[in-house]
Amino acid sequence: MTIRLYDQDSMLRDFTATVTGCYEKKGQYVVTLDRTAFFPEGGGQGADHGTLGGVHVIDCHEHGGEVEHTTDAPLEVGAVVEGRVDAVRRLDMMQQHSGEHILSGLVCQLFGYDNVGFHIGSEAVTMDFNGPLTEEDVRRVERLANEVVWKNVPVETLLPGKEELEAMHYRSKKALEGTVRIVNIPGADTCACCGTHVRQTGSVGQIKVMGWQKYKGGVRVSILCGRRALEEETLLLEQAKNASVALSCRQQELGGAVERVIAERDELRFKAEQLGLRIFEMMAAQEAGSSVRMVVCDALAPGAVRKAAGKLGEGAKLALVLVPREDGYSFAMSSGAEDVRPATKALCAAFGGKGGGPRDMTQGVLAGGTPQQIRQKLMELAGS
Ligand SMILES: [Zn+2]
Repeated sequence: MTIRLYDQDSMLRDFTATVTGCYEKKGQYVVTLDRTAFFPEGGGQGADHGTLGGVHVIDCHEHGGEVEHTTDAPLEVGAVVEGRVDAVRRLDMMQQHSGEHILSGLVCQLFGYDNVGFHIGSEAVTMDFNGPLTEEDVRRVERLANEVVWKNVPVETLLPGKEELEAMHYRSKKALEGTVRIVNIPGADTCACCGTHVRQTGSVGQIKVMGWQKYKGGVRVSILCGRRALEEETLLLEQAKNASVALSCRQQELGGAVERVIAERDELRFKAEQLGLRIFEMMAAQEAGSSVRMVVCDALAPGAVRKAAGKLGEGAKLALVLVPREDGYSFAMSSGAEDVRPATKALCAAFGGKGGGPRDMTQGVLAGGTPQQIRQKLMELAGS
């Protein structure tokens, strides 16, 4: 059994240990020690990285009571080595993990929900609760959690005896046997946990809820704590700054400014469609006397092509609307009486296109052909 130095001191980064085992596995090495400060992945917290006797520790897992360090080079069994845990990564893990305790403890106190899933990903930190939370609930819990951070209360680790433990109220994901390690954050949380935590809640820095969504009958809450929160806020603020410059508004008014821009866009889009239809109608008027009608109109909005073809086809044998695009045309074909599907098929065959639809209206694209060529083909197909 490896002695776990991180159990007694979560701030220990440098230590000395004796190599008790080393074997190769898929081009990497699995190293065991008599004692270690490296935390193996578990309980939602990621594995520590760092160095051991000059080689890199790139992963760390628990297996049969031993802590197994994955290294990029072998170490000699029996050798005494210096270990160094990556302090930046560990502090990040401790900030996320301790923040999760505070938030989960408060949710449990206020709503009686359990944290049924916790994961520190490379970007997001998620926690799942088995009950719903409203936006108001989430913001209240977030505020209270940060108050616990500001109070800078100690994070206590307790190893209570059996009777003492039975009298305790604590959160626990599963029934535990043997000595149970209790992590207590006065005013916020009491929980059975073997992870690493900050010594004082102030070291969490801040707890920011980034989002939440319904999940398996409860809610999944995404949080960022400490350095991660700061970095994400800097990134978001940069985006907000760029957007506010582009929209000439204050960052605090971005929501309203974006809504106004979208409303303006929709109005312009509508006006453009109306104008396109008017231009089309003027062009269509010149075809009105013919039984075969064709209009090439680039002013038509994509959503208006069908409607335009329908109008053009009223009382016609064959009517074709073409909208030029970079690689040919998009088209709609209609007729006042005939099935336009055979003509559509023939047109597509002649000009490298594809399309289809019901008997009175087809739509598609053509790869080429000049308007004159297409009109001539249309006349042929109409038999006139
Ligand atoms: Zn914990």
